[in-house]
Amino acid sequence: MANTIQAIRGMHDVLPEQTPLWQYAETIIRQVLASYGYSEIRLPIVEKTELFKRSIGEVTDIVEKEMYTFDDRNGDSLTLRPEGTAGCLRACLEHSLLNGTVHRLWYSGPMYRHERPQKGRYRQFIQLGVETYGMAAPDIDAELIILMDRLWKRLGIRDKVHLQLNSLGTIEERIVYREALVAYFQQHLDVLDEDSQRRLYTNPLRILDTKNPTMQAVVANAPELMAYLGDDSRQHFDAITRILAELDIPYSINTRLVRGLDYYSKTVFEWVTTELGSQGTVCAGGRYDSLIEQLGGKPNFAVGFAMGMERLLALMENLPDLPLSKPVDAYMVRVGGEAERVGLRFAEALRTALPNLRLQMNADGGSFKSQFKKADKSGADYAVIIGDDEASRGEVSLKALRNEQGQQTLPQAQAIEFLKHYLLAR
Ligand code: ATP
Ligand code: MG
Repeated sequence: MANTIQAIRGMHDVLPEQTPLWQYAETIIRQVLASYGYSEIRLPIVEKTELFKRSIGEVTDIVEKEMYTFDDRNGDSLTLRPEGTAGCLRACLEHSLLNGTVHRLWYSGPMYRHERPQKGRYRQFIQLGVETYGMAAPDIDAELIILMDRLWKRLGIRDKVHLQLNSLGTIEERIVYREALVAYFQQHLDVLDEDSQRRLYTNPLRILDTKNPTMQAVVANAPELMAYLGDDSRQHFDAITRILAELDIPYSINTRLVRGLDYYSKTVFEWVTTELGSQGTVCAGGRYDSLIEQLGGKPNFAVGFAMGMERLLALMENLPDLPLSKPVDAYMVRVGGEAERVGLRFAEALRTALPNLRLQMNADGGSFKSQFKKADKSGADYAVIIGDDEASRGEVSLKALRNEQGQQTLPQAQAIEFLKHYLLAR
């Protein structure tokens, strides 16, 4: 190993034995999103650094210390996207998609943050992002939560996640609250750690987010933003909780939930789990109407969320009996000069007749014995065998590799029928 090149710390390969679980989750995610009428959008991984500074905010963890930023050869400052919301909105503004139309969009792909790698926290990680534009009323905020509730159920992990909700109010309401919060923390300066003392004047709401145990008591007694909400924000929040109650979706109100990014207003929510240590947030989002103007658009409405795929998969890892697809259904064994030729043609005929059949054909020759070994290792349920006898009679032998059905020799057309029924039952 001494001389081989390793991957970058915090950036992981997904190996073939892991991809079936990813594909299973991705298929269900696509189905659920489609069932609510969401469309996929595909976005670049690199954007101008300015986009993230202007949207995420200069005094956030991401922009202050987590971005992969570099100069392009012509001197432009570019950044590997740390999240997808900014790029998605940039694309919609650039292509004038927001003029008087509503959108329900999703994307999925790698994000990059220079964080300290640990379980559930990586430097390259995959997010599913869901964004909606053009809708002001609380029913769309609720729809995103309802959609996720369905997704957790479909994935079999509903009992592992819990919804936390809060409202951040409007920018005006937050300014008043911020003053009260700063005044409160100023009375407890001695308890604030260095990070929080710095945030006191740049981004005091983030102090509520602290994981420092010695500050918990002070944070717990801090004024609550809920008490500073105006009628409109309050009604918006109450409407969401009413819709969730209507569908029996449980939630807790967490008045300390402020989210790391600057662009939220009114609704914020997180789906949290106790199963992943301190990386307990699997999915997080909220309303961010003001970001649209901040990025140069006309006043409009936006709500969205992002889910970390690695954290999702960690929750699914030990689920029993998942119908994960395996790469091979049938393995063709062919021994003999004529058999190789006939086998080649029959393999193609099988793929034409049964496009869903995953058929691996032996390559590199070998005896029956060594080819059967490879058939077994491939994970196939059936060996499709062609020796010179079968070849000369237009027949094939099918041997069950995973049960006691044994072996049968059939005309080619019947073998196709047999495998067709096998696929239907699979
Ligand atoms: P955290 O509090 O865990 O740092 P965050 O508030 O930075 O999360 P968001 O920016 O809201 O997270 O991203 C949404 C989701 O993306 C998170 O809930 C998590 O599942 C996932 N995520 C964020 N950062 C990472 C990371 N470094 N590695 C793996 N997943 C991540
Ligand atoms: Mg973070």
